[in-house]
Amino acid sequence: GEPTIYVVTPTYKRMTQIADMTRLSQTLMHVSNMHWIVVEDAETTSEVVHELIERTGLPYTHLAAAKPPDTKESKWMGRGVFNRREALRWLREEKAEGILYFADDDNSYDVRIFEQMRATQKVSVWPVGMILGLGISSPIVRNGKIEAFHDGFQWGRKFSVDMAGFAVNLRLLHINPDATIPTRVSYLEDGFLKKLRIDLKDLEPLADGCTQVLVWHTKTRSPATPDLKHVEAQYVDTNL
Ligand code: UDP
Ligand code: MN
Repeated sequence: GEPTIYVVTPTYKRMTQIADMTRLSQTLMHVSNMHWIVVEDAETTSEVVHELIERTGLPYTHLAAAKPPDTKESKWMGRGVFNRREALRWLREEKAEGILYFADDDNSYDVRIFEQMRATQKVSVWPVGMILGLGISSPIVRNGKIEAFHDGFQWGRKFSVDMAGFAVNLRLLHINPDATIPTRVSYLEDGFLKKLRIDLKDLEPLADGCTQVLVWHTKTRSPATPDLKHVEAQYVDTNL
């Protein structure tokens, strides 16, 4: 049958979490043959996220992996590192076969990208809209091959791609047991892809030769509120 797509979503508690996760989950409900791995950046899984995932009816794995407390203040620490690592640990333990895609909870996804990434042989890549700097991050394609990247942040990076802009065939994860997400902010994607021991020429351009934007790096913002830092649950009592 067609390969399963393992969608890995790191998430953490904040006011916009349930709004973001609702939007993402209802996008994923349009994707067949996918398995959602949600990893909370917390000591334990939460009831509100559990119920949200459960309601989708999707096959899922719900995990928790908190960032070490001493890393919280560091400006060099990337976001969602330790929970993504936990997902990689689970995928290796399960010897999962298929496709790996990291889908942050706050991005926007056109469902067409999921069908396209299913055919990934090694690593597929495509543009991501609304990226800091140039407004878009995109592989540069010539004669069907990736030559370079149009990206506002190239500094020391071989693969200047956003987390939302690539998918990996899980075979590469298993044959490269040391491949992990590095902690250094801005180098998570590049560090991971380098560890998969691939070349630029191995990258497979999707989204019609990287000419279409099917994924956006959207960000949600909390409204200004005096004392409410996050919501504990999705339910409110409006019978005043
Ligand atoms: N994230 C997390 N713990 C954190 C901060 C972020 O698990 O302390 C998750 C977040 O929910 C998202 C991903 O990591 O799925 C990237 O975070 P964010 O969207 O805040 O970063 P940016 O879009 O600025 O890269
Ligand atoms: Mn984000």
